[in-house]
Amino acid sequence: MTGNPASPGQAVGVVARPATAPELPAEVPAPGPAQDEVDAAAAALGSVVADLTERAAGLTGEARDILDTQIAMADDPALVDGIRAAVDRGRPAAWAVHDAFAVHLEALAALGGYLAERTGDLADLRDRAIAVLLGVPTPGIPVRDEPFVLVGVDLAPADTVTLDPAKVLAIVTSKGGPTSHTAILARSLGIPAVVGCADADSLADGDRVVVDGTRGVVVTSPDDDAADRVARAAAEREASLARHSGPGATADGHQVKLLLNVGGATDGDVDAEGVGLFRTEFLFLDRTDAPSREEQRRAYGEVFRLFGDRPVVVRTLDAGADKPLPFANADDEPNPALGVRGYRVSWRKPDLLADQLAAIADAAAEHGTDVRVMAPMIATAAEARAFVALARSAGLGNVGVMIEIPAAALRAADILAAVDFVSLGTNDLSQYAFGADRVLGELGALLDPWQPALLDLVALVAEAGRAAGKPVGVCGEAAGDPGLAPVLVGLGVTSLSMSAPAVPAVRAALRERTLDDCTDLAERVRRAPDPATARSRALG
Ligand code: PEP
Ligand code: MG
Repeated sequence: MTGNPASPGQAVGVVARPATAPELPAEVPAPGPAQDEVDAAAAALGSVVADLTERAAGLTGEARDILDTQIAMADDPALVDGIRAAVDRGRPAAWAVHDAFAVHLEALAALGGYLAERTGDLADLRDRAIAVLLGVPTPGIPVRDEPFVLVGVDLAPADTVTLDPAKVLAIVTSKGGPTSHTAILARSLGIPAVVGCADADSLADGDRVVVDGTRGVVVTSPDDDAADRVARAAAEREASLARHSGPGATADGHQVKLLLNVGGATDGDVDAEGVGLFRTEFLFLDRTDAPSREEQRRAYGEVFRLFGDRPVVVRTLDAGADKPLPFANADDEPNPALGVRGYRVSWRKPDLLADQLAAIADAAAEHGTDVRVMAPMIATAAEARAFVALARSAGLGNVGVMIEIPAAALRAADILAAVDFVSLGTNDLSQYAFGADRVLGELGALLDPWQPALLDLVALVAEAGRAAGKPVGVCGEAAGDPGLAPVLVGLGVTSLSMSAPAVPAVRAALRERTLDDCTDLAERVRRAPDPATARSRALG
C-alpha cells in the first residue's frame, strides 16, 4: 500500500484501530422528560470536559493549547442552549447533542481557513459526548498492553496530542496530507507515519504490517525475515543516531547549522545550534487584539533566555491564510492565501510590525541575545529593502527575509543584495509553485518536498546565496527530512531548521556523507522526472 511519506523511519507491528465515531440509530427513541434529557446531555459534555482536562494537565505548549481550545468549545453556554432547544423540539439527549453541534459546525466551516480546520476538534467533542450517551466506546486511541501500529481514517486532535510515543510504533491514516495535524505530530514525536494511504481502510485489528514512513509504503503480512530485518534496522538506526552529537557537519567537516523551529518558550535543552524559525504568530492567535509591546517583549524574552548565547531567528508576524487574525486580516478576501498576508499586512497596519520589531529589539537588548529577524511572504527586492530599513531603524542589525514565493526565488540575487540572509519556507514555496493549497490532503503528492521543480527553486536561491557570500537556510518541513537534508546541502543550503525530534536523524544523515557525496546526490535527484524517482535515487 502506498501513501504520503509523513514522518521518516520504519517499524513493524500489529494494527490497532481507534473506535470509530458512534452512529445514531436510525430509529429515534421516544424522549424522556425534557429536563432529564437536557441533564443527561449536559452530564455527557461534562464528562468529556473532565476527560480532556485530565489529559491536558500533563501537557504544555501547542498540545496544551489544542486541548484547552476544545475544552472552551465544550464549555460554550450556547451549546447547552442549542441542546435545550432541540430537546424542546422532542429530540432525545444524544440526538439533541448532534443537532446543537451541527449549527456550530456549519458556522465554523463557513469561516474558512484556520478556523474551518477546527471543525475536526468540534466534531470530535460531539462524537465523544454522543458515545457517552449511547454507552458505546469513546472514539480515540485504543488501549493495549503491547505497542501497536495505529491505523485510522485520520486522528482527532485530542488523540494526536495525548498519544503515547512509547505505545505507538507507527501511524497510518487513509486521509490527510503531509501538513495535517497527524503528520505534524508524528514528525514532532519521531514516530514513522504514512498518511493519505487510501487502502489502509482495509487493515483490521491484529493485522501485522511493516510501515516505511520514509518512502510512504505499508507492507501487509510481511514474512518473518522481512519483519526481523525492519526491526533490526530500526534498532541499529536508533543506536547510530545516539552516537552523533554536536554541530551539524558532513563527514569531511563542511559545516551546516542545525537549528530549531519553535512556536514559543519550549525546552531549550536540545542539542542544536540555535533557533532558525521562531513563529511568533502563536502569541497572537485566539486573540481579538494585538498583544502590547510590553507583553511581546516578555514573551520573546522567555525564548531568548532559554537559548542563552545561541542565535535566534525571529520571524515577524505571518498572519493570514492558514493563520488568520481578526485584527490583522480582512475577512472578505476570496483567496486568503493570495491576499494581504504575512509582510503585506504591514502595508495596512504599519504599527503592528513597528511594535513587534521594537519589542524584539527590547527583548534582545535585555537578554544580550544574538537575535536576527526575518519577514515572511516577501515577493520583491523592494519589499526586502523596505523591511530591512524598518528593522534597522528599530535597532536590529542582522536582517533577512523568507523566500517562500516563487517570484522571490527567481530574483533571489536582487533580494540577497538587500539582506544579510535568506531562509527558504518550502511549505509555502511548494504551495505557490504548484498552485496547491497546503492544507488540502488531497493535493499531498504535489506538495511533496521531493518534487524536482521545488528543488530547482531551492538550487536557484542557494546558488545566488553562494555568489553573494550570504547564508541560505531552509526552515520549511523539508529541512527535517533526513533523506532530503543531504540533497539540500548538496544544492548549497547552509543551515537547516526543524522540529527538535528531527535533529538527530538529520545530523546522522549529514555525518554519513562528504560534501562531494551530497553534491553528486543533489545532481542525480534534480535530474529525476518525479518525486518517487528522486526519492529512490537518494534512498536506494
Ligand atoms: C514555510 O512556509 O515553509 C514556513 C516555514 O513557514 P510556515 O509553515 O509557518 O508558513
Ligand atoms: Mg510560510
